[in-house]
Amino acid sequence: MLLEVKGLCVNYGHIEAVRDITFDVPEGSITTLIGANGAGKSTTLKTLSGLRKVRAGQVIFDGTDITHAAPYDRVKMGISQSPEGRGCFPGMTVRENLDMGAYVRTDRKSAAYNQDMERVLELFPRLEERIEQAAGTLSGGEQQMLAIGRALMARPRLILLDEPSMGLAPKLIQQIFSIIDEINDQGTTVLLVEQNAAQALKRADDAHILETGEIVRSGTGAELAGDESVKAAYLGGNI
Ligand code: ATP
Repeated sequence: MLLEVKGLCVNYGHIEAVRDITFDVPEGSITTLIGANGAGKSTTLKTLSGLRKVRAGQVIFDGTDITHAAPYDRVKMGISQSPEGRGCFPGMTVRENLDMGAYVRTDRKSAAYNQDMERVLELFPRLEERIEQAAGTLSGGEQQMLAIGRALMARPRLILLDEPSMGLAPKLIQQIFSIIDEINDQGTTVLLVEQNAAQALKRADDAHILETGEIVRSGTGAELAGDESVKAAYLGGNI
C-alpha cells in the first residue's frame, strides 16, 4: 500500500467533517472518493496534504507515519495536491506557476527537471502555447490543467486531485480524465476526489463513497458503477 488511512477524524471546531474513515491507496492505482457536496472529500485531501489537523487516527505513507508531518515534508516525500478551485497564482506566468510546483526540489537546474517540465507540457500542449501568459488570464479549463501540471512538477508518487472536472465543459472533462489516465499509466498513483461519479468510477481501481463524513460503501470502481443503489443515488440512474 502506498497510502494507509486509519480511523481518520477531522473537525472544524465542533463540526465533525470526517468521522473515522479507513481506506488504502494501492501503489499504481487510481483510487477515488466520491460523494455529494459537504461529504468531507476536500477535507480528507487537505488533511492528507497536511493542511488540516488530524483529531484522531493515522496516516501512513509508504510505511512511514505522516499523521502530523508538515505539508512541505509531505511534498518532499512524494505527495502533491491539485486543489479544488485550482489555486493558481494569477499574476505569475504559466512557467512561473509550474516552477512553483517544484519549490521543494533541489534539482531545479538539472536535466531531470527539464524533462519533467517537457513531460508536463506534452501532457498539456495548451500550457506550452501559453507559457509566458499570466495564469489569471487563462480559461477555467486551462487553469485546471495548470493546477495538475504544477502538482506534477513536484514529481509526486501520489497525486491528490480535488474535483478536476469541476466547472468544465463536457469535451474538456473527457480530456482531463484521459490525461489523468495517462498520468497514472506513466506510474503516478492517483487519489481522485470527484462529484462526477460516473467518470471517476469508470477509471477507478478502488472507490469509496463518503456521506456526511463517513465511508458508507467501498468496492472496485466497476462494482460500484454497476450497483443499483449507487446508480440511483450518484449516477442519475445510468453510467
Ligand atoms: P464539495 O464537493 O462541496 O467540495 P466536500 O465533500 O469536499 O464538498 P468538505 O469541503 O470537505 O466537503 O466539507 C465537509 C464539511 O466540513 C461540510 O459540512 C463543510 O461545511 C465543513 N467545512 C469545510 N470547510 C470548513 C471550514 N473552513 N470551516 C468550517 N466548516 C468547514
